[in-house]
Amino acid sequence: MENIKTQILGYISLEKKQAVESLVDKVISFYKENIELELTESSISYFERAKERVNAEQATPKGKITLSSTMNTEEALVHELLHLYMPIHHGIYTLGFDIKDKGTYDLSAITQNLIEHDIFLKDYLNFGYSIDRFLTPDNKRDDYETKIRSGIANDLFWMHEYFRIFITKRHVPKHKIAEWDKRMNIMRVHALKMYPNITDKFSLIRNWIKSEDFHKSDSLFKEIKSLFKIFGIYPPTQILTHDKNYLLNIVRP
Ligand SMILES: [Zn+2]
Repeated sequence: MENIKTQILGYISLEKKQAVESLVDKVISFYKENIELELTESSISYFERAKERVNAEQATPKGKITLSSTMNTEEALVHELLHLYMPIHHGIYTLGFDIKDKGTYDLSAITQNLIEHDIFLKDYLNFGYSIDRFLTPDNKRDDYETKIRSGIANDLFWMHEYFRIFITKRHVPKHKIAEWDKRMNIMRVHALKMYPNITDKFSLIRNWIKSEDFHKSDSLFKEIKSLFKIFGIYPPTQILTHDKNYLLNIVRP
């Protein structure tokens, strides 16, 4: 069986190989070849940062990429590799595992994912890839009526929608911005009907994103805590991070 590096680089076009190779090397040195690449015919690619337990306190990182063979395969692979690379950059392997509520936990995972996009988009572009293929096209309509009827559209839901739409607008090509503005307007109308004062929260979230303070690796956890405060939920108190041997440990920064 060919090794994981050869396998990964097999998807990278010749003119980008040299640049992407250094990313692949860093990712492999972190996961120690404990990386799995699996193909899917679905248009959606995704990654998992899992762990393999060494003893009660420690684990080694384990990365897995499920890669679409049908939609932007090369770009998606680099995108997911950048997610796997992120813990080396900012030290946060997993966040939010101390959150008991499932809904809040899922939200913290989505938040971390979107934050990472904002951090690594410039690396992706520097490799020479186009912003047109940074994200998989998302054609599903935001069905707010159903969410309102079922009662899940509380103030946290709207704040997170604002966060998701505002930050994603930074990650799409120029010709898609009008479409995302439209989504934002629809969302605002629904949110304001239920929570007329929520615009105060929206502006705090907007300022949080625009400051880009979360791009600085040493202030990311502090920034995430302040974002969760804006959301009005109990901020995570522990993170899974790595030591100099790339072993994962739980810390309470
Ligand atoms: Zn992503």
